[in-house]
Amino acid sequence: MRCVCLLLLSLGFPLLAQSQTRTVRIGVLGIFHPHELTIAADPTGELLIVAGGQRIFLQRGSSCSLLRVRSAGDNLLLSCSTMEIRAVELRASGRNQQSAGLVLTLPGKIKRRYLGVLELKAKNGELLPTITMDLETAVASVIQAETTPGTPMEALKAQAVVSRSYFVSGGGRHTDFDFCDLTHCQFLREPPASDSPAANAAMSTHGLVLTYEEKPVTAMFSRSCGGRTRTPEEIRVSQNGYPYFSVRCDFCYNHPVRWTRKVSREDAALLRLHGENGRLAIGRRLGWDAVPSNNFTAQEAGGEVTLSGVGQGHGLGLCQRGARNMAESGSDFRAILDHYFPNTRLDVLPSAP
Ligand SMILES: [Zn+2]
Ligand SMILES: [Zn+2]
Repeated sequence: MRCVCLLLLSLGFPLLAQSQTRTVRIGVLGIFHPHELTIAADPTGELLIVAGGQRIFLQRGSSCSLLRVRSAGDNLLLSCSTMEIRAVELRASGRNQQSAGLVLTLPGKIKRRYLGVLELKAKNGELLPTITMDLETAVASVIQAETTPGTPMEALKAQAVVSRSYFVSGGGRHTDFDFCDLTHCQFLREPPASDSPAANAAMSTHGLVLTYEEKPVTAMFSRSCGGRTRTPEEIRVSQNGYPYFSVRCDFCYNHPVRWTRKVSREDAALLRLHGENGRLAIGRRLGWDAVPSNNFTAQEAGGEVTLSGVGQGHGLGLCQRGARNMAESGSDFRAILDHYFPNTRLDVLPSAP
């Protein structure tokens, strides 16, 4: 079925000339700064662990079904049943080194299932789990994490193309992996069920990316734009490649999400001087809702500054709220992408080598 879809899509869209990598390396769970975690196979599967020159099979019901890993400086301490191993790195995969379902648990904090190959290292006492996963699995996982239930299919498909384009265009904002699993790159949790709307949206746009001057666009999106999308210059961020254009967003224009917040004079100065980067610095310190967008007016009184703003997020590229409304009004994903990313086109990634 997937091959048929790809063939049909290939007829409608030109193929990108250059070969593209079809997996992405995503650093996961870094927000927890873990010192300890456990690794297990899917309930019905098995995992091959390679570490410290040894091979271990993790399987439910076997003598070793759960591997405990702790950090010791830049080393890993592995334990399972009576076995203990010290290693610099660990790799967990299916029996033939391929992608497999695996469950990572940070005791007392979180348990998450992934589909891919796990590489694990420690750096200064902190564990750095990285999952190499199929691009399409990553896209479906982002759609699931970044959209709200009930979002129409054409808006989900637009999101799929945006997220895929972002992944394919590069990364490079991290040293130990290509992308993190937070909104800094794209928010990602577990892969969705294969019959979920998120998985369907990824499948039905399989391999499609936005391009500008024949290169994939580092496509951005935000929750709501406030009435028109922004340009990098307006929010004082540098942007190579696609220049981004400010486009009107009818739904947000007629129904803007309004907000007011009080901030200190120092934070108001940070916003004035550094734009979006100032907003992110405040968000890291006070929470991501402290200044919901960078589209506001400021009024100072009594040592405090009141911000009155519209929109949620940086406002570059796709507006999720506007896309949802366009889909509900009958637009397909092509029209949505055309509206929010003028002068781009849709291309199909070539088949993986
Ligand atoms: Zn990141
Ligand atoms: Zn909008």
